[in-house]
Amino acid sequence: MIDFSKARLKMVEEQIIARGIRDARVIAAMKKVPRHLFVEEALQSQAYNDHPLPIGEKQTISQPYMVALMTEAMELKGKERVLEIGAGSGYQTAILAELAQEVFSIERIRSLAIKARKLIYDLGYFNVEIKISDGTYGWPEKSPFDAIIVTAGSPHIPQTLYDQLAGGGRLIIPVGDVHTQDLYRITKTQEGMKKENLGGCRFVKLIGKYGWENEDFRKNDEP
Ligand code: SAH
Repeated sequence: MIDFSKARLKMVEEQIIARGIRDARVIAAMKKVPRHLFVEEALQSQAYNDHPLPIGEKQTISQPYMVALMTEAMELKGKERVLEIGAGSGYQTAILAELAQEVFSIERIRSLAIKARKLIYDLGYFNVEIKISDGTYGWPEKSPFDAIIVTAGSPHIPQTLYDQLAGGGRLIIPVGDVHTQDLYRITKTQEGMKKENLGGCRFVKLIGKYGWENEDFRKNDEP
């Protein structure tokens, strides 16, 4: 067995702390969760590098820094009920399981969801529920959520997800065309929707009723 703990520490120091992530709980979670287990064996030596990696089904595990940035933006203190759209490998899900009380995650691709679910439970995270579904509908039965994270790029902000936020709740979502997006933090305030642009990013497509229509169809390339 290769010891990945040094690589993980280096990742956190050079990619996460050096780039300005300050939330001590996010930093601790990223030091702890064994990211290499979320990719296939042949890619494990690259798991702590500064980029996304393929996880099969034309999907990717997000770049470590992007995971840290999005998670920090959710402002989790430990008691929250959170929703994730796009479980993928389950890595972001595990980070959330470290930082929130209850994590609900939706993945539309069955094989990925099953793999992620098994790994999450094998690692001992029992505060997580993963379902196979179109996450653009959200998970109304489990709402309201203190925070929602969408780990795929959307052409717009789905109203369904905004509606499932608790008062003061945060929705972290990449919005844009199929090539590039901006990462937004949307906060549900008494005065209405507060929108903050956290910078440019690039994600695979959010595919579903309130996202992109399917893998090949392009509604238009403009947001
Ligand atoms: N957080 C994941 C990111 C995976 S990539 C990780 O780091 O591993 C984005 C994921 O979103 C893919 O697995 C894709 O299948 C999923 N996805 C895309 N549209 C979706 C939708 N409407 N509902 C649920 N999952 C969706």
